[in-house]
Amino acid sequence: MTSVTVEKKDGKIIHLIRPDVQSAQINHVPPSRGLIKMDAMESPYPWPAYLRGEWLEELQGVALNRYPDPESTDLKASLRQVFDIPPGLELMLGNGSDELIQIINLALKGPGRKVMAALPSCPMFQMIAAYVGMEFVGVPLRAEDFSLDMPAMLAALEKHQPAVIYLAYPNNPTGNLHAEEAIVQLAEASHGLVVVDESYLAYSGVTMMERLQRHDNLLIMRSLSKMGLAGLRLGYLVGHGKWISQIEKLRLPFNINALTQFTVEFALNYYDVFLEQVEQIRRDRIWVVENIRRLEGVEVFPSETNFVLFRVAKGRGEAMDAKLRQKGILLKNLGDSSPLLRDCLRVTIGKPSENVAFLSALTSSV
Ligand SMILES: *Cc1c(COP(=O)(O)O)cnc(C)c1O
Repeated sequence: MTSVTVEKKDGKIIHLIRPDVQSAQINHVPPSRGLIKMDAMESPYPWPAYLRGEWLEELQGVALNRYPDPESTDLKASLRQVFDIPPGLELMLGNGSDELIQIINLALKGPGRKVMAALPSCPMFQMIAAYVGMEFVGVPLRAEDFSLDMPAMLAALEKHQPAVIYLAYPNNPTGNLHAEEAIVQLAEASHGLVVVDESYLAYSGVTMMERLQRHDNLLIMRSLSKMGLAGLRLGYLVGHGKWISQIEKLRLPFNINALTQFTVEFALNYYDVFLEQVEQIRRDRIWVVENIRRLEGVEVFPSETNFVLFRVAKGRGEAMDAKLRQKGILLKNLGDSSPLLRDCLRVTIGKPSENVAFLSALTSSV
């Protein structure tokens, strides 16, 4: 046992805090006031007025004095229906899929238990591994096209025997879809779980749900954030009962609040409205990609999501980010996040007028 030094300094017992937590950096969300926000994969579209009106009307019936349904029974039933969850598979809900990652890791952690992911990917995979005290193994994607480097993945799997592998499908921040066969191969080679993160399902239209039937160490994680409900915080995990029933034990009973349960269920009754918005964003993404491609010295990568990754001239990424910000556009600068993403920026598709503003700012800055 390590002894805890209790040092009273300024009245604070600061050494009680885990050393790794003390040295951790705060995940900083950049200020966006006055800027066109194109940094966080949000939908730019609010609800149509008629929907908002009806929702506010019905919201009056939600009992805020009572705890929410700990099982989210009604919401789960609509998720199953709308997203075609096969009857033999179980469902667990999280306060965003970020919380699901945290709960999965808590259920798996232990001496020598590792988390693996292909990098660059969602930074939460690495951060949450660290939060719960698990070692993280990151395997670089192939620099040419951001596909999985299978020899390297299989070698790392063999060496580290990770308790869980997280794979975003499509991947964030690169926007591409990994080969389904490659993910299956990893699931077959792994003695641990493989979590396929389908946060961008609405945009890609591609799922590995079918594969769950035959590969019982696969889990599918999805989020409603990217299809227009980021503020509600809802993610869901689909898998075989033997896993979900165990992982569920670590879910705090009331993690999905009453307003979220009610509102998501309401929204799913109008799923076609959200799908229309998604279709609009997909069309606009194609248009944005075509227009970035026309620019001299800018490389744009294919995307199956609601964002686009592009690379500006060598050494210019940082300055480009600053310039665009000056012109009122907030993007995500990924230059420092990975050696594979030098001078890369990520733009989330906005409303048509926002996309025009972005392209005009970019064109005048290259
Ligand atoms: C946005 C994102 C998440 C987080 O989703 P929430 O449900 O909002 O927590 C997880 N994984 C990937 C790949 C993402 O892009």
